[in-house]
Amino acid sequence: MLASKTPQVDYEDCCTPVINQELDKSSVSVMCSECSTKGKSIDTQTVKSLLAVSLENVHPVEYHFCAEDSCPVVYFAVDGGQVFYESDLRERVYQKAAGDESVNVCSCFDITPADIHNEYVETGSSTVVDRVDAGVKAGQCACEIRNPQGSCCLGNVRSLVKKMTVETALQES
Ligand SMILES: [Zn+2]
Repeated sequence: MLASKTPQVDYEDCCTPVINQELDKSSVSVMCSECSTKGKSIDTQTVKSLLAVSLENVHPVEYHFCAEDSCPVVYFAVDGGQVFYESDLRERVYQKAAGDESVNVCSCFDITPADIHNEYVETGSSTVVDRVDAGVKAGQCACEIRNPQGSCCLGNVRSLVKKMTVETALQES
């Protein structure tokens, strides 16, 4: 019977993203209100997934991610009316934790800079890029709901491995 396959759409209605058509474009700022760095547009679903505070606080506006390491803001509303700090989130934020080796660089596969560092010390190389790559190909990642930046960590992992490769080479020379 086809009728039994009719999708139940009612429950989706409450969570249909509010398309913000009324936002006055002249009041939109893609600059972080605290550090004036240009933020990166982020899916509201990511903001909702990562926040530890009640989602009643989430406004129907576009949010951007501030990646500046010296700035405490993680998400800011482009209407300038709101910011969320790392302390409002469920996860630590890699970009805000320069030098802290215990903060996940990859939230999907639980990889910290310390893990990469330890593998370097033990084996002289790193398999982490291949590991993440394989996980992504296997469809095991969920960057948009687990990674505070809302996108794949591979770029961050690659730069970190590159940095450690250079540091290891310098130590050996
Ligand atoms: Zn900022």
